[in-house]
Amino acid sequence: MEDTASANQVTLDHVAALDAKDPLAHYRKQFHLPEGVIYLDGNSLGAAPLAAFDALEVASKGEWAEDLIASWSGAGWWTLGETLGDKIAPLVGASDGEVVVCDSTTVNLYKALHAALSLRPGRNRLMTEAKAFPTDSYAAEGVVATHPDFTLDRVDVEDAGFADTLDETVAAVLVNHVDYRTASLRDMMRLTQQIHDVGALAVWDLCHSVGVIDVDLEAAGVDFAVGCTYKYLNGGPGAPSFIYAALRHHNTFDTPLQGWWGHAAPFAMEPTYRGARGIRRFMVGTQPILSMRAMAASLDMYAKVDIADIRAKSQSLTQLFIDLIDQECSGLGLELATPRDADRRGSQVSLYHDGGRSVSLAVTDQHVHGGYREPGLLRFGFAPLYNSHQEVGDAVAIIKRVLETEMWREDRFGSADTIS
Ligand SMILES: *Cc1c(COP(=O)(O)O)cnc(C)c1O
Repeated sequence: MEDTASANQVTLDHVAALDAKDPLAHYRKQFHLPEGVIYLDGNSLGAAPLAAFDALEVASKGEWAEDLIASWSGAGWWTLGETLGDKIAPLVGASDGEVVVCDSTTVNLYKALHAALSLRPGRNRLMTEAKAFPTDSYAAEGVVATHPDFTLDRVDVEDAGFADTLDETVAAVLVNHVDYRTASLRDMMRLTQQIHDVGALAVWDLCHSVGVIDVDLEAAGVDFAVGCTYKYLNGGPGAPSFIYAALRHHNTFDTPLQGWWGHAAPFAMEPTYRGARGIRRFMVGTQPILSMRAMAASLDMYAKVDIADIRAKSQSLTQLFIDLIDQECSGLGLELATPRDADRRGSQVSLYHDGGRSVSLAVTDQHVHGGYREPGLLRFGFAPLYNSHQEVGDAVAIIKRVLETEMWREDRFGSADTIS
């Protein structure tokens, strides 16, 4: 046992070597990162790309201030949602015209689920994940509230018996590609196939996979998908989300939020709604152009990177973190909540601790910025474009110190309330 442990010992040299051969290392200087902080929360809000500042300057001082209304066509504002959708398409295995950027993730989930139900008349069950990020279920509840015959089933897609709960009464299932709490990566091919086997539609939430995993919606035959742009895509706070509809569903689905941006002839000012052809039908009204111009700058960076390199580095960073936590922090009360198999996890590692909330506050106080989710989970997200292996090593050393010294029990971290 001793021998194996020392043979696997992760050394400082090893960490430095991983950074030395990292093909993405040079991207870090294209981001603004605050001094003295190890930022491991890019799964919640991605860091700011320097190019976004320039884009905002051009969009605000030039396109808005100088050109005003002429920018709707002159600067491509009117079609910016589709332009950005086409930039995201290759990251998710979609074709031009299948993705559009608009509205928030929650609003798009609502639209996607409603659209899916409209394509499966005569059925009466909608499924969501019991343990999903709550807003996904809230949106699903809202959709079911407008369909009086429907029931909402909360299921566990990781349960071996999941396929048995499916039958011909199910209209659609909403599945998260990566679980926000555990970072467990779901098998998109297999689950979509199981859902299709009963004639239901598969709606995927890509919030925690887009930008770090080579998603292939078309290969898996996914019907609809929604994802976030301000996490790993670094689009900026409040940047609108994206929505995907497989080409075979275009022109047939209904959208529950009918607006002039999704009208077949928006400038004809017709008195009644006629849905646009193509993905534009999912649009509703005027979009946050400044935010989208910042996002465009970030997406242009992705156009130059091979997503396979991003995935490889993501797996390398998460693996190093897990190995170092095993090596340095055993006996300190941490429990790994993320799959050990690198092919079964996203770009995040979650650690359970009885005093999780206080530990998270103490670790943040020591300048390692991770996230916290009830119950007791410390979440660390690793962004391959700007995090280094060195940061992983330093973060583990700090976590170890916080636990060993029991600093997290200090009153200022509120341990009293959390432990009881
Ligand atoms: C981040 C995230 C959201 C965010 O929804 P907003 O409408 O952008 O606030 C929704 N669902 C999941 C699974 C997420 O991870």
